[in-house]
Amino acid sequence: MSQPTHTTAELRALDHAHYLHPFTDHKDLGSRGTRIIERAEGVYLWDSEGQKILDGMAGLWCVNIGYGRRELADAAYKQMLELPYYNSFFQCANPPAVKLAAAIAEIAPAHMNHVFFTGSGSESNDTVLRMVRRYWDLKGKPTRKTVIGRINGYHGSTVAGASLGGMAPMHEQGDLPIPGIVHIPQPYWYGEGGDMSEEEFGLWAARQLEEKIQQVGEENVAAFIAEPIQGAGGVIVPPSTYWPEIKRIVDKYQILLVVDEVICGFGRTGEWFGSQYYDLKPDLMPIAKGMTSGYLPMGGVIVGDRVARTMIDEGGEFFHGYTYSGHPVAAAVGLENLRILREEKIVEYVKQEAAPYLQSKIAELADHRLVGEVRGVGLLGALELVKNKATRVRFVEKGTAGTLCRDICVRNGLVMRAVGDTMIMSPPLVIRPSEIDELVNTIRQCLDQTAEQLG
Ligand code: PLP
Repeated sequence: MSQPTHTTAELRALDHAHYLHPFTDHKDLGSRGTRIIERAEGVYLWDSEGQKILDGMAGLWCVNIGYGRRELADAAYKQMLELPYYNSFFQCANPPAVKLAAAIAEIAPAHMNHVFFTGSGSESNDTVLRMVRRYWDLKGKPTRKTVIGRINGYHGSTVAGASLGGMAPMHEQGDLPIPGIVHIPQPYWYGEGGDMSEEEFGLWAARQLEEKIQQVGEENVAAFIAEPIQGAGGVIVPPSTYWPEIKRIVDKYQILLVVDEVICGFGRTGEWFGSQYYDLKPDLMPIAKGMTSGYLPMGGVIVGDRVARTMIDEGGEFFHGYTYSGHPVAAAVGLENLRILREEKIVEYVKQEAAPYLQSKIAELADHRLVGEVRGVGLLGALELVKNKATRVRFVEKGTAGTLCRDICVRNGLVMRAVGDTMIMSPPLVIRPSEIDELVNTIRQCLDQTAEQLG
């Protein structure tokens, strides 16, 4: 039986009556009316009113190979008929999950050879918390329980994910973080660097980790978790001195390094993983999003040999897992997604063509009177909107310029995201140069309109 068709007004009324959305102010939504996205192709979306919109965010940083790839639908269809579900508990596996684990090990850094599958980035970070504590228990160091994260980092929305992250509004709701998770400042030079040079500030921010380890007591610290480049926090690209200093500190204290690759993984920086871009040697890498290009929900944790060998050789059962860990249909889609990324050399395309082009084009926006800083790596970009470029003074009510600009963008057929007054972008990796031109030209027009309205 086919579903009855609904007008946009009917869908909005049903939505308003029944649907509680993630990260949404429902009073606000009630007055605006939800935008219903109906279909998509390549880098474009179409809403239920027929507007064509360039998706400058690849959904939520996830549609790496672009929309409308039939091969992924075919892979899902075939796998659903063959084996729609079976679990990976109790010494069972299914062919796509096994093959996907092996394929991921091939593209991961050389010392990372195992994958634990989950259903999302948040579940991956819950797994991280349990795994690092399990590791130190097995090592006979059960006091090593504390995980250090960063203020304004994002690691998901479950209780552990939100606790590992450092988003103040999330912490305010529900008494987070949970005990055993502490935070250090972020390497956000433009916003928080004060009078320091970028390099000095990078060292300062990294050394906050050493201070925190000493404060908590070395014998109590299990791990440090960070995104290579903070995504949801506002595409915060760390100064060049930051990661080398973090590496020194992590090595000195022998704590586990968790690099959250949920956004940076699967090609976004022009390398397979952000860890390769910054030459990091993580012990654990949570992944999701680009793993299936968002076509089906799936996540995982790529586990380095140090932790994997301990869990396997000294472990026993790890009492942890999800019904959908290694879901065969999601894994089949993940495999097909990886095949496309590899055979079409999409990561190479990002590194050699798309990223240099996007970065050079957005750099031109630095001359706009609203733009205080332009920054980015790979196909991640950010524009800081300020009232006064010379003094970096912001607009009085934080977020007004960003929200205004974001809404103007959508009206002009472009999805950008606003984090406060920082406009961020993360388009599909397959975006073509002509589409990058369209993206950047539209942003400039929208900046002009925003400036006009701000007066
Ligand atoms: N980690 C990072 C770095 C993310 O950006 C996100 C989501 O945006 C997550 C974890 C959580 O992933 P999910 O929304 O799939 O649970």
